[in-house]
Amino acid sequence: MYKEMKIHAISGYSEVGKNMTALDLNDDVVLFDSGLFLPSIVGVAEREKIPTEKGMRELGALPDDLYLEKKRLREKVRAILVSHAHLDHLGALPFNAYRYNADIVSTPFSIEVLKLLLEDSNQRLKNRLIPINPNSSFIIKGKRNAYKAEFINITHSTLQTALIAVHTPNGIIMYANDFKLDNTPLLGDKPNFKRIKELAKEGVKALIFDSLYASDDRKTPSEKIAKGLLEDVFFTTENRNSAMIITTFSSHISRLKTIAELGEKLNREVYFIGRSLNKYLTAARNIHQAKFAPPHKIISFKKQIEKFISKVNKNKNHYLLVCTGHQGEPGSILDRIARHELPLHLSKDDQIIFSSKTIPTPINETNRKILEKHLRKYNVRIFDNVHVSGHGGREDLRDFIKMINPEHLIPAHGDLKKLNAGIELAEEIGYKLNKNAHLMQNGKSITLK
Ligand SMILES: [Zn+2]
Repeated sequence: MYKEMKIHAISGYSEVGKNMTALDLNDDVVLFDSGLFLPSIVGVAEREKIPTEKGMRELGALPDDLYLEKKRLREKVRAILVSHAHLDHLGALPFNAYRYNADIVSTPFSIEVLKLLLEDSNQRLKNRLIPINPNSSFIIKGKRNAYKAEFINITHSTLQTALIAVHTPNGIIMYANDFKLDNTPLLGDKPNFKRIKELAKEGVKALIFDSLYASDDRKTPSEKIAKGLLEDVFFTTENRNSAMIITTFSSHISRLKTIAELGEKLNREVYFIGRSLNKYLTAARNIHQAKFAPPHKIISFKKQIEKFISKVNKNKNHYLLVCTGHQGEPGSILDRIARHELPLHLSKDDQIIFSSKTIPTPINETNRKILEKHLRKYNVRIFDNVHVSGHGGREDLRDFIKMINPEHLIPAHGDLKKLNAGIELAEEIGYKLNKNAHLMQNGKSITLK
């Protein structure tokens, strides 16, 4: 029996992004996630350059995992457990996974996305990539011990998101980064409350949880509500003679499926245009979750895009175009349409639908303003925020924490302000700061006795 274990906040505790947490079991270390800090690389992917580890570290895009070298923990890392396919959770692996003699374990969709990211950047990893179905487990072999890691199904804004529970000799550590509690998801199953409650009964030592919206007094609506919002725009506005262009998060497969289904109901041909849409839809197709997007409906090569767009231009109301560019990213398809760099002539009453929310960073807000300025020149109709979030709000978190009733609470996924909101919530529930609720920052650790 160990005397103690430690949790190290590597990154994602002083900013939103580059998530990485280390569970230190003395002889063995388990990593949760290895993500990118996306604001520092906006536009890099679209410029078609292949970035290097050094370049990415200089940009501040990678987790501060050199910490593990300094603490002599690097060689003890036995597994990297990945919660889901978002780039702020797995996007750093092509650059830093080689440092660890460890398997990369995640659900099949996330593993497919990682494979495509590696392919994209022409990289290979010596780490084994191990797909684990939602609601099943993997045994991590340590120096003297073995640890069961469970990937419990939970809902979020991408496919096959997992709540990870690692069984250690000193209790269960739960990593819940990111999630919402959606009882009516439109693709995939609802959260596995049965298993979560069973583990709660066994006793959970510590819960690391997504505090991004811990200060928002809300219950995040289900994905079925997003469908309702889209139906309203699609079927109750005048669009018979208009172009319809919609943009959303490329990894949001469930939303893309809804858009495809509703587009067909409108008798429009639905096409997906852009590189990142191609990547995530291909990953989803590889695990048989994207029948709605057959390969010929996905258009991602430069020449092919130009040819296709000029065909659309002759018959605009015949199509529903799903494009990249919801954050106004320079070089995205929507940005290029707005700048008239693609042969589509927008005109009065054409519809531009953002099934997304602008992520509130200065660079995104600036890019979105520029995009809208270009779009408004054509007098198009803009429908913003036809969207529901993939992150639970304060009242979801309250129910979740109470359901699990862990000994220790560790807010994650945010800067000091956001984590503080997680701590305030913990205190409302009855936890005490520095006793069993821990305000972490990058580079800090706590010891659980
Ligand atoms: Zn996420």
